[in-house]
Amino acid sequence: NDNNTETKDRCCNHQCSGGKIMVVGLGPGDTDLLTPRALASIREADLIIGYKTYVDLIQDLISDKSVISSGMRKEIDRARLAVDEACAGKNVAVVSSGDPGVYGMAGIVLEVARNKVPVEIIPGVTAATSSASVLGAPLMHDFAVISLSDLLTPWDTISQRLRAAAAGDFIMVLYNPRSKGRPENINQAREILLPLLNPQTPVGIVRCAQRGEQSSVITTLQDMLDSEIDMLTTVIIGNTQTR
Ligand code: SAH
Repeated sequence: NDNNTETKDRCCNHQCSGGKIMVVGLGPGDTDLLTPRALASIREADLIIGYKTYVDLIQDLISDKSVISSGMRKEIDRARLAVDEACAGKNVAVVSSGDPGVYGMAGIVLEVARNKVPVEIIPGVTAATSSASVLGAPLMHDFAVISLSDLLTPWDTISQRLRAAAAGDFIMVLYNPRSKGRPENINQAREILLPLLNPQTPVGIVRCAQRGEQSSVITTLQDMLDSEIDMLTTVIIGNTQTR
């Protein structure tokens, strides 16, 4: 079909040997929330590349595949490897948890690939919606997704976005709320929001949504720090209409 012709042309223009990269969203973790297309991409792949924790999530599906897993902060290395292997003719699946375009591998792979090889992005169920489903509190209306990781985004920008989301009465979904290296970020976010929102605003805290050791708490902005929050947690702060 036309799509295939287009892909071939693009490929030949760049002397690629016919491989491609699929950046695959694995969803929150339980394999029944992996989309059929994600599953088909993994089956089609000659090589699976990913962060170790995510590769482990799909261990049962990839026992017969070549797998290269690496640690955190190796994203650019993983993307380069994927491009090299695809240029050499392999179909490579780069796996990301949730959706690969939400703080995942999709953007990095596109930047590194620079049109040298075809890149297909396969969406996945992201933590915002999988966590809301666990709470039984669907997002329903306008929400803002904000990562509290200040590894690549200055904290000033993050705090400005928190204030803006509060001013807009958005529901806020906070990813990367706390890590070992940055334990204070969620505390500081709460400090920023407390004077701007009702302290009784409902807050949902979900750890390992739709995956093995799932747990969740519904609390308030005032009391949210009494609950365990770590890097496997998503924090949802309601708006003035939330109940
Ligand atoms: N691409 C992923 C997000 C990666 S950033 C996605 O779309 O879901 C990593 C952050 O995502 C974690 O710190 C946590 O805030 C959130 N997260 C990912 N999976 C989660 C899960 N199963 N339960 C709760 N939070 C999760």
